[in-house]
Amino acid sequence: MIHGYQAGFEDRSTSRDREGQLVDETPWTRSLILRIRQERPVLLVALLIALIALAAGANKWVVLGLLLLMIITALWHAVPVIPQVPLESIPETVETAGSRLAEVTATLEALDVPVMVLSGDASVLYQNRAAEKAFGEVTIGAHISARLRSPGILDMVGETIATNAPNQIEHSERLPSERVYIVRSAPVDLDGQQPADERFFVVSFRDISEVRRIDRMRSDFVANASHELRTPLASLRGFIETIQGPAKNDAKAQERFLGIMLDQTTRMSRLVDDLLSLSRLELKSHIAPDQKVDLVPLLGHVRDSLVPLANDVGVEIALHLPQGKAEVLGDRDELVQVFENLIENACKYGHEGKTVDVFLKNGQGEPVEVTVVDRGPGIPAEHVPRLTERFYRVSIEDSRSKKGTGLGLAIVKHILTRHRARLIVKSEVGKGTSFTVRF
Ligand code: ADP
Repeated sequence: MIHGYQAGFEDRSTSRDREGQLVDETPWTRSLILRIRQERPVLLVALLIALIALAAGANKWVVLGLLLLMIITALWHAVPVIPQVPLESIPETVETAGSRLAEVTATLEALDVPVMVLSGDASVLYQNRAAEKAFGEVTIGAHISARLRSPGILDMVGETIATNAPNQIEHSERLPSERVYIVRSAPVDLDGQQPADERFFVVSFRDISEVRRIDRMRSDFVANASHELRTPLASLRGFIETIQGPAKNDAKAQERFLGIMLDQTTRMSRLVDDLLSLSRLELKSHIAPDQKVDLVPLLGHVRDSLVPLANDVGVEIALHLPQGKAEVLGDRDELVQVFENLIENACKYGHEGKTVDVFLKNGQGEPVEVTVVDRGPGIPAEHVPRLTERFYRVSIEDSRSKKGTGLGLAIVKHILTRHRARLIVKSEVGKGTSFTVRF
């Protein structure tokens, strides 16, 4: 039952009208009727006096005038009391329940969170558009179990209905795609207490799949980074212990070990540098760069800086540049890093091909493109989509032996995302690989 009181004038419902107490009046006429009711004894006495005066032979116009004056004075001074109408006496009609449901659902339709409204017997009275998109259409009036079969959700809803208290659980779905939701059921409190058969419950679904995915990525990343640092640290410790112990007086062994230790520390500092680069890039990933950068001199500079490494692995870097300028909007240092990583990889992993070609295309009306081509062993197709993941390597040993950190292409991807540019990888095992940057 609905408790509480409301002011009679404004809130009287049609059902009350049907009871014949106060019939469809304007506030002014309602006020007059209330004043007459209140002043009923005074008015009756006035009427009685008037009748006696008439019977005694008084002038009827004078009597009528005095009666009118008394009536006006009585009504003028009466202050109408607004009766407090206990709402228990108002039977809730179907229309009232309907309009209450509309009240509950009015704003839910605009939400991008899937929401359903249930009745006290767990039938679905309403679902918003987001819920329809996530779980498909539902027959209004059907029990919620016709739409959601998860025992966890059904138990939770049952408990909320029984106890009138909110509950929430985590629920995951595998089909059509893997999703994780925080599902919450809560009673809707419109006016305090409501009749058992007219209660509403809201069931909402907060999609936390993305949050979970990012959490997993973050913990994988921390695990990977620690693992990458742990290996060289363990080897450093081993060598220090050997130098302090068995090789204490072996100058030759000490020299060899110190050389390896230097390699390991260099590898660790490369890894830390790459990690810092990545986190810096993540911080500014939403700010598009706005410098004009000419790729012709930039590629020349990158090639020059990589000549020593190319010579070490016996590779020649051939640049194929167009006439004139090839300008793009970008950050010069970051673009240097992109092409350094791609050309260095081509030299390191494709050195068997002996040459690495770098093509710069700047066609009229076409996007500017840089393609780095090697004629090395190529990359098996199943690895290609994962190359830009952090720490992903086709062969860990091969990468480590070539001083790789497994972060080079992840950095390339981050920089290109910020530059709104694409990375296209084509590879054929036994023939070679091409990495194209399209601006
Ligand atoms: P790394 O530091 O290991 O070189 P990258 O992110 O730069 O890390 O590259 C990831 C992996 O992609 C490398 O370990 C290597 O297996 C593969 N790769 C990259 N470029 C080439 C290439 N041109 N030819 C063959 N494999 C390549």
